[in-house]
Amino acid sequence: MFAHNKRLQYTVRVAEPNPGLANLMLEQFGGPQGELAAALRYFTQALAEDDPGRKDMLMDIATEELSHLEVIGTIVAMLNKGAKGELAEATQEAAELYRAINGAGNDSHVTQVLYGGGPALTNSGGQLWTAGYIDSIGDPSADLRSNIAAEARAKIVYERLINVTDDAGVKEALGFLMTREVAHQLSFEKALYSMQPNFPPGKLPPRQEFARVYFNMSQGEGDMRGPWNSDEQFQYISDREQQLAVDGGSGLPETALTPEQSVAVEQMAARTASDPQSNPMTGAELGSGQLDADEPAGRTS
Ligand code: MN
Ligand code: MN
Repeated sequence: MFAHNKRLQYTVRVAEPNPGLANLMLEQFGGPQGELAAALRYFTQALAEDDPGRKDMLMDIATEELSHLEVIGTIVAMLNKGAKGELAEATQEAAELYRAINGAGNDSHVTQVLYGGGPALTNSGGQLWTAGYIDSIGDPSADLRSNIAAEARAKIVYERLINVTDDAGVKEALGFLMTREVAHQLSFEKALYSMQPNFPPGKLPPRQEFARVYFNMSQGEGDMRGPWNSDEQFQYISDREQQLAVDGGSGLPETALTPEQSVAVEQMAARTASDPQSNPMTGAELGSGQLDADEPAGRTS
């Protein structure tokens, strides 16, 4: 079950209304790296998890992310409060209201006019939240890696939001939320490495002849060697002949068809064959107004 506490996880102090800033904050409310996506990512993973340690961790972090959603949503609501009241009560002249929600690069008309100043389930550009933001695959070694990357991205978005905010209270709350993503990243990494082996993901082993090969496919000035393709770690292949048909086969696609299927495929190929000797008149040429007076034989215009 879920229980709600009326006190926030971190106290929200907003200096003054700022609908433009509220709009930017929506990135972490209903955006791809936002708190709703994080909460539902871990909550759904927790429901299906059979390992008791990971299940508990995922449920703890999912619940904390919901608490972050509450904090960031409260920041949005506080930053919008003034404009919301003014718009609802039409306390100013139309032009003044227009400026309040749209002026000074503050592009908050969608949140104001459509959503009434409440925290909308959109990103900062108005894109609706979607479950497509969550990429769980149901394997702990793959999902933990994705969770680590999701926390890293969330940390970066918070960092960018902190950099565009001059409201000290908002900055402080964002700094807390950013720091918690760092802590979550560490927990997920610890959980990943506490599972041995965790690489490669899944159960089927990779095919050994290809597992430690590096194909130098983009060749020319700028070719570089490093630990990602070092001779200690990888067999480094630059020879073009050794990069193709690596199975030792012809490299040409093959399939087996029934005799009836073969006949049908050949019939279709014959019916749709192109004539390399032709020079057909096209609509583009007809429309160009630049046709020769003497049309080639067989052509009509
Ligand atoms: Mn969070
Ligand atoms: Mn997190």
